[in-house]
Amino acid sequence: SYQLPKPDRRRVLTVANQKGGVGKTTSAVNLAAALAVHGLKTLVVDLDPQGNASTALNVEHRSGTPSVYEVLLGEVTLADAAAVSEQSPNLYCVPATIDLAGAEIELVSMANRETRLKEALTSDAIDQLGVDYVFIDCPPSLGLLTVNAMVAAQEVLIPIQCEYYALEGLGQLLSNIELVQQHLNRELAVSTILLTMYDGRTKLADQVTQEVRNHFGEVVLRTVIPRSVKVSEAPGYGQTILAYDPGSRGALSYLDAAREIAERGVKNGEKQ
Ligand code: ADP
Ligand code: MG
Repeated sequence: SYQLPKPDRRRVLTVANQKGGVGKTTSAVNLAAALAVHGLKTLVVDLDPQGNASTALNVEHRSGTPSVYEVLLGEVTLADAAAVSEQSPNLYCVPATIDLAGAEIELVSMANRETRLKEALTSDAIDQLGVDYVFIDCPPSLGLLTVNAMVAAQEVLIPIQCEYYALEGLGQLLSNIELVQQHLNRELAVSTILLTMYDGRTKLADQVTQEVRNHFGEVVLRTVIPRSVKVSEAPGYGQTILAYDPGSRGALSYLDAAREIAERGVKNGEKQ
């Protein structure tokens, strides 16, 4: 079967949009699972105190479990906090516990408060895992946790829901990304926009899709994720859509989106 290309160096994608409910977590876990299906080692870093990515990957995240919180405090390495998922030996997750809820405030007074996740991700410890892709699942805010994610990544992936007000708030997100580029991470780029929860029965979904493509051009993936009940059911079973119903439209669309990301990443690399 066709294998996806392995990136020359580890790709770190921050999945960000300060709006809640746009498909950040769903996209982070399902894209990661899709790449894992293709044999690529993938890590999801759950950076939302809600711990939804940890739930979806069925990874322990009770308070006290070694998690991204202890990683930010420098108490444990990222590799030590990473748990392998049941779904695939290629799919890891660094969980978020409720302890992370305090981190946004606790980080304020800490040294290197913006670069703590980056330091954890660039340490030798992560090399032990041999990870090809990292997806950082951000909380629905532009606070210090999201800044840490943007500093730690080369790429931002923005999920946009095909709904009213889809573009509202994006200006603020983009100007925050620019600030991070200017002051903290020159390498950062918005590499990928993914349209989610597309409902083909509505005219509105097509209008939003067109508007986003006109505005952002090439970075918008050709693949659009359909609205599907199965996609929303899967986390309730501690599964990604790829495990819950591998033949479903939702699973196939995340496989297609993952393939696009893997293939264009390598292309972008060749251009440089
Ligand atoms: P965010 O992380 O941005 O807050 P989520 O990924 O948690 O967003 O998605 C918000 C809600 O929408 C969740 O209940 C999720 O199950 C549901 N959802 C996400 N993608 C889809 C989809 N393609 N079809 C149907 N429901 C979806
Ligand atoms: Mg989420």
